[in-house]
Amino acid sequence: MPLIDIVRTKASSGLPPSAYAADVGSTDRVGLMSDIRTDVAIVGAGIMGLSTALSLAESGVNVVVLEANEPGWGASGRNGGQVNSGLKHAPQIIERDQGAEAVRFSYDAPNRVNALVQRLGLECDYVNGGGYRAATDAKLQREVDELIAQLERRNIPVQSRSAGDLQAATGTDRYTGGLFDPAAGQLNPMKYSRALAMAAQDAGAAVYSNSPVVKAFQGNGWVLDTPGGKVTAEKVLFATNGYTDGLIPRLRRSLMPVFSTIAASRPLPAAVQARILAGREVLYETGLVTYYYRVDAQGRFLFGGRGPMRPIDGAEAPGHLQALAERLWPELREIGWEYYWNGRVCLTADHYPHVHEFGETGLACVGLNGRGVAMATALGPVLAARLRDGRQAALPLRSSQIKPVPFQPFWPLGVEARLMWNGLVGR
Ligand SMILES: Cc1cc2nc3c(=O)[nH]c(=O)nc-3n(C[C@H](O)[C@H](O)[C@H](O)COP(=O)(O)OP(=O)(O)OC[C@H]3O[C@@H](n4cnc5c(N)ncnc54)[C@H](O)[C@@H]3O)c2cc1C
Repeated sequence: MPLIDIVRTKASSGLPPSAYAADVGSTDRVGLMSDIRTDVAIVGAGIMGLSTALSLAESGVNVVVLEANEPGWGASGRNGGQVNSGLKHAPQIIERDQGAEAVRFSYDAPNRVNALVQRLGLECDYVNGGGYRAATDAKLQREVDELIAQLERRNIPVQSRSAGDLQAATGTDRYTGGLFDPAAGQLNPMKYSRALAMAAQDAGAAVYSNSPVVKAFQGNGWVLDTPGGKVTAEKVLFATNGYTDGLIPRLRRSLMPVFSTIAASRPLPAAVQARILAGREVLYETGLVTYYYRVDAQGRFLFGGRGPMRPIDGAEAPGHLQALAERLWPELREIGWEYYWNGRVCLTADHYPHVHEFGETGLACVGLNGRGVAMATALGPVLAARLRDGRQAALPLRSSQIKPVPFQPFWPLGVEARLMWNGLVGR
């Protein structure tokens, strides 16, 4: 039965001009150039696809990854590099909607990254410095306090931080307080993605770049067409998140790929590094329009948040991001900025990641809602087990039907309007 219709054949694109791309340089891209057979095919070589491929290959399953560009080209190689725990909702709500295992799993996810990096010696500047969820006003502070109480009741070891603690840690008085999660960490996401791709290949997976899947048929197994050849597979995983194209039109219409922008400063002098997150902790703010930041292994200050709802390709300075950072840390004016880039964070209407099943042979796992570094890493082995062992392998999230979002094609207008409104009322 043909499930899927034809989409445009995408010309493959280079890496966005980010600080991370500058760190890793270019790589040889090997595309699919013949017709092949495999046990499992994975569409998308981000953290989700690669973590799943690694796990499958390590258990002896033949697996092929098809990537339109190159490993880490999507959100996985351009994100904030924060290895954070949890989901958008508070534990009580997650338990109601998804079950208790989803809470445990999502708060353990940073430990999975740590364990994987250590086990395979992945070179990605990983540091387990902990992370803050910081509140900027009394209402958000009450939400953080309630979150801490809920986590403590479930024996998840987070700590409360006062306004003074956060001022000492960040060098700004912007915060009323926050939560500190000792499991959180940071890494260079492009290095991490490439290291995952190499580890998967070392374990026996084939990872093809410049190989967009332009057509997929589900019949007796799956056939995935790329411009250079086709893959016939018993099972398939779609791991395309915010870069989901028209391959499965309903899947694309169920997702809102909102852009998030990052500005990277020139390396901070040692005295400034000693004042801003000196323990290499990461920080993200609670609330609708959130900012997130860290100081990376090169001493650059990486400040992320809202920006234009289109690719900026490095040429366009995100004025308001820079202005806010320079207001909070005036020394940044002198230090200056070196890189700007953005990418698609994949939102879902209910703010949960979505696992969809296509009979017994196909899975999609999308909608990481801006928390994919840890969650996608942790979900990989779980999805691998499901693909390998079928429904006897439990999932930590409930699988669901694909539900297109009304007016989804107009999401950029909706997001701009919401942000503008928030900016006006938030002044
Ligand atoms: C600016 C920014 C900052 C972020 N900060 C953080 C953070 O600090 N911490 C955190 O946890 N999360 C963060 N996120 C979210 C995180 O990056 C994502 O949740 C995660 O990378 C998703 O991984 P993925 O593998 O599911 O998808 P992606 O990494 O987006 O990979 C999808 C891949 O699918 C490929 N693809 C799409 N269609 C096809 C096709 N037809 N054929 C072949 N290949 C195809 C794309 O080329 C892409 O490479 C951030 C995201 C952005 C954009």
